[in-house]
Amino acid sequence: SVVKEKILQRKSLQLHHQQQDWQESPEGQKMLEFRRSLPAFKEKDAFLRVISQSQVVVVSGETGCGKTTELPQYILESEIEAARGAVCNIICTQPRRISAMSVSERVAAERGEKLGESVGYKVRLEGMKGRDTRLLFCTTGVLLRRLLVDRNLKGVTHVIVDEIHERGMNEDFLLIVLKELLHHRPDLRLILMSATLNAELFSSYFNGAPTMHIPGFTFPVRAHFLEDILERTGYRLTPYNQIDDYGQEKTWKMQKQAQAFRKRKSHIASAVEDALEVAEFKGYSLRTQDSLSCWYPDSIGFNLIEHVLCHIVKNERSGAVLVFMTGWDDITSLKDQLQAHPLLGDQSRVLLLACHGSMASSEQRLIFENPEGGVRKIVLATNMAETSITINDVVFVVDIGKAKETSYDALNNTPCLLPSWISKAAARQRRGRAGRVQPGECYHLYPRCVYDAFADYQLPELLRTPLQSLCLQIKTLQLGSISEFLSRALQPPEPLSVQNAIEYLKIIGALDENENLTVLGHKLAMLPVEPKLGKMLILGAIFKCLDPIMTIVAGLSVRDPFVMPSDKKDLAESAKAQFAARDYSDHLALIRAYDGWRDAEAQQAGYEYCWRNFLSSQTLRAIDSLRKQFFYLLKDICLVNNNSETYNTWSHEEHLLRAVICAGLFPGISSVVNKDKSIALKTMEDGQVLLYSVSFSNI
Ligand code: ADP
Ligand code: MG
Repeated sequence: SVVKEKILQRKSLQLHHQQQDWQESPEGQKMLEFRRSLPAFKEKDAFLRVISQSQVVVVSGETGCGKTTELPQYILESEIEAARGAVCNIICTQPRRISAMSVSERVAAERGEKLGESVGYKVRLEGMKGRDTRLLFCTTGVLLRRLLVDRNLKGVTHVIVDEIHERGMNEDFLLIVLKELLHHRPDLRLILMSATLNAELFSSYFNGAPTMHIPGFTFPVRAHFLEDILERTGYRLTPYNQIDDYGQEKTWKMQKQAQAFRKRKSHIASAVEDALEVAEFKGYSLRTQDSLSCWYPDSIGFNLIEHVLCHIVKNERSGAVLVFMTGWDDITSLKDQLQAHPLLGDQSRVLLLACHGSMASSEQRLIFENPEGGVRKIVLATNMAETSITINDVVFVVDIGKAKETSYDALNNTPCLLPSWISKAAARQRRGRAGRVQPGECYHLYPRCVYDAFADYQLPELLRTPLQSLCLQIKTLQLGSISEFLSRALQPPEPLSVQNAIEYLKIIGALDENENLTVLGHKLAMLPVEPKLGKMLILGAIFKCLDPIMTIVAGLSVRDPFVMPSDKKDLAESAKAQFAARDYSDHLALIRAYDGWRDAEAQQAGYEYCWRNFLSSQTLRAIDSLRKQFFYLLKDICLVNNNSETYNTWSHEEHLLRAVICAGLFPGISSVVNKDKSIALKTMEDGQVLLYSVSFSNI
């Protein structure tokens, strides 16, 4: 071990010299200069002092001040200086894959290294990490899975949990585990980082751990709300009396939504209804893709966004524009629309960029760069740009007030990603993005009264999503009683929802009577999909009909690829009916549609196929890529091998497929007990009659 120590010391020294060489090179100096200009740099010594004195530290600081890129580096640098460079082992978790990847790339570049040397990353199914990697950026999920095999995090010296203000389920879960682990590992350091100032909550959770704030300077940003924007930009809304049939239906649908909304969050619903009344009173249309519909749950006023962007490009001073959208679908559709616009699509005047996880790094770089020759940069992004990434030259922010949030679809018993209203904190954060370099302007595309009804903070994910997968994780990690464990959370979930989740897992056979994992439960815990879908996949592999089952599970996880344009509803429905023809099955229709698309793609005719059959090629592509991921996961847990014959022998047996689907959905299935004009459905679980009077056209 003396020899080993010598080797480690030599390695540490090597690292030290490498850094010195880099910092003396011209590029290194430039980089160092930039790093020293960040607000975090002023707090470097104070930060290192606090972590040497305390096991847990909570750090908050304005987005862009250098928390993610700098603080982990300060630790690494100080360890290298103290000749511990080769023994330290720093893990920094990120809530999203993209941030783990892009941040590690940036930090490696700041250190003049290639990724995978002293800095690396690891996300599910992908990674860049070498034997000498000392600072690892990974997703929270990756660290949780590591805890499965390495409960004490042997060798790890520092754990940094980033973006804790987001209150994701994985992060809250990780904190419970780490809190316990700190007792067994007194040498382990835990650093929590947050973009907002509610550090006290975390500090008191960790028995009054010290907090530290990195003061940052931002310029004031003026907020404009919808009523003011309409006036300011001179936007003309379609008069209410010109609404067509589709508009009528839409209005009705919105009112329904508002009603459903009221049940969940009454204060927002009434604000929405108030606004709706105001709009109607003023004679505004509520048509989709137009005007005020932008603040409705399922649609965005693209035309209004286009109008506001035009206004900025034509009338406002120079500066980049950041548009917050809900998701990739919206971003691509809006980008298509804007590109066709005479002014916004003019590349000599506007540089239109979409910011997304899987974009090429050349495009990613453009987002951070300043365009030349008076070209206006417009970046379309999701809430990722709220805190995870910082674009410095933004002066204008356009905020539609929505973000995709995992919520619970009680009808299908599935978690889903739905656009919902953001919180006041998130709206403030979005606004702040406009004031990095000079005073900015923020266009909130919803009325002030809607903003006033926003919740102060977003509800933690643990309190708004089903807990089934989490319960399996708790059991796999052998953390004892599920209820007892979850009661130690920062904000514990309702005991009733915990009980429901446990009951469900018992019914599907993932837990036994004594709440112990069954063989099925073990396998399910290894699959990062919700249990019912995981069970379908496992059964598909066991019963050798995996390909079609993967299609169904992917379809259920993404969304229905069949599109129903309102003006061609009949045609679209008959196209879908062709796929479902023999058996009226949505699931089997999906399989046939997907298979047909894949054949067409092979002959470069995928687009035409989609067009003819009212299918979304974007959705089909998403399904395709998810299927591939499922396959790797199943291979990972040794349920399939590379020989497709062995798991597809019975793929054409539709009876078997149905059986597998039913077994997966159990107990969430019912049988039709009366095939008369009106019918009733009987649940399989306890024979309770569920539903009356469904007309056949709805099935
Ligand atoms: P925080 O985590 O506090 O929000 P970061 O550490 O992510 O801040 O970023 C600090 C600074 O580094 C920001 O001002 C940002 O502009 C800059 N930066 C971060 N990533 C990149 C990148 N990939 N390219 C250029 N600059 C970057
Ligand atoms: Mg950060």
